[in-house]
Amino acid sequence: MDYRVVSIVRDHARERGEAPAVTGDGRTVTYAELDARSSRAARALLAAGLGPGARVAYVGRNAPEYFDVLFGAAKIGAVAAPVNWRLTPAEITAIVADARAEVTVLDAEFAGLADDLPGRAVVTGPGYEAWLAAHPADDPGFTGEPDDIVVQLYTSGTTGVPKGVQLSNANFSVGERMARRWRLDGSAVSLVPMPLFHIGGTGWALAGLYAGCRQVLVRDIDPVALVDTFERERITNAFIVPAVLQFMCQVPGARDRDYSALRAITYGASPITSEVLRTALETFRAPLFQLYGMTETTGAIVQLDPEDHDPGGSRAHLMRSAGRPYDWVEVRIADPAGEGDRGPGEVGEVLVRSAQNTPGYWARPAETAALLTGDGWLRTGDAGYLDADGYLFLTDRIKDMIVTGAENVYPIEVEEVLAAHPGIADVAVIGVPDERWGETVKAVVVARPDASPTEEEILAYARERLAGFKRPRSVDFVDALPRNPSGKILKKDLRAPYWDGLDRAIG
Ligand code: ATP
Ligand code: MG
Repeated sequence: MDYRVVSIVRDHARERGEAPAVTGDGRTVTYAELDARSSRAARALLAAGLGPGARVAYVGRNAPEYFDVLFGAAKIGAVAAPVNWRLTPAEITAIVADARAEVTVLDAEFAGLADDLPGRAVVTGPGYEAWLAAHPADDPGFTGEPDDIVVQLYTSGTTGVPKGVQLSNANFSVGERMARRWRLDGSAVSLVPMPLFHIGGTGWALAGLYAGCRQVLVRDIDPVALVDTFERERITNAFIVPAVLQFMCQVPGARDRDYSALRAITYGASPITSEVLRTALETFRAPLFQLYGMTETTGAIVQLDPEDHDPGGSRAHLMRSAGRPYDWVEVRIADPAGEGDRGPGEVGEVLVRSAQNTPGYWARPAETAALLTGDGWLRTGDAGYLDADGYLFLTDRIKDMIVTGAENVYPIEVEEVLAAHPGIADVAVIGVPDERWGETVKAVVVARPDASPTEEEILAYARERLAGFKRPRSVDFVDALPRNPSGKILKKDLRAPYWDGLDRAIG
């Protein structure tokens, strides 16, 4: 339990230094090279006046330099804070300022931001290599304590502004056990398509580094290129969000490719429809794992194993479950009215207690107080229930729940039904204001290119399959749904035009 994140690179460099650690931008860095580069980065940060607790930001696509920064910071007790490069320059600057980063490593693509950022900026490329080379490769030797913060990841901002989540050595100390659960070992070739500023990028990559395997970093999420990469790199393991999995399955010829090296595809971070799951099983013919978790829980806390992905079997309903908590994780379902726990099958808020729970948000005491109960439990903000066997079924985010009349509607349930409509390629369900009911259900639909379903058809389809209060009352057609980098539908953006100037009961 007292393993330190920084030990990952030190241990592997000593034991298997020549093994490849990270491939990106056409280069492969071995564990020994990563150890040396991160020691130089650590020395450079020390020379710039940084020490324990200082923040070092990284703004860039998935690239090997990120790991110099992460381990370099850890080698002096500083904290790596990777920032979502897809945000606007003003938003990026605001996050760097929020983190109070004293140094920011900028991918060359974002060099234009250098002058606007608070603190010092170093741009990757020749200047960055010279910065590293100017410092010796002897490790400053900082090891630190289990409670020391090593990375600060910002939440996806799906429901509000991104918050800096502090994650400690202790939070990551289950990494080795997790790697085993994900079938990662030293011989794996692990694809890292999720952005490294997200727990699905950093957490997944750290698990692979724990296991001592090679990480293949993906700079651009292009479904066609991803399908190629699977074949070319003989990928054995990958963590892919449902939206990307869906787009990969839609690539022409995707089913006919060679996936013989694949051990498992791991997916999660947002809801998945049964439709996408079935197609993914047929396309990749590989075991699937689902993960549920959040930045605040250092990623996965609940897992659905391959044997529970059996669409034809007697337990097919488990494919709608997120799975069961890890042995070291406790999950309970709290009564929203604050009166104890809900029984099996009863929906409430999902609470979690484990060594993975963040000690709190950075510089946000009010949000931290709302997140942590004080007796070890963390409020996820997700609604769901546990069945009698301990499987967790997520109904939706509490903030996305629609209250229509006296009924609660969980949009995911409606989306699941509509996604099976042959003319619908993508769908989101939101609540829009209604004088009589408070809110009513609206579907926002992307039609399949070869189909043009009408509003009446979709409403009639829903009428046959859903209880009255859950049925959409209207349909909007759009070309694409707004999604954030983790593939999550930005429902707050879809709702905004309808709620301008009005207050929603939730969120
Ligand atoms: P913000 O907190 O800023 O609004 P966010 O909650 O999207 O953003 P993350 O920490 O990246 O930021 O995401 C965690 C959330 O993702 C969970 O609370 C849950 O709602 C959703 N999620 C994660 N895994 C799954 C899954 N397997 N199925 C359904 N939803 C999931
Ligand atoms: Mg969240």
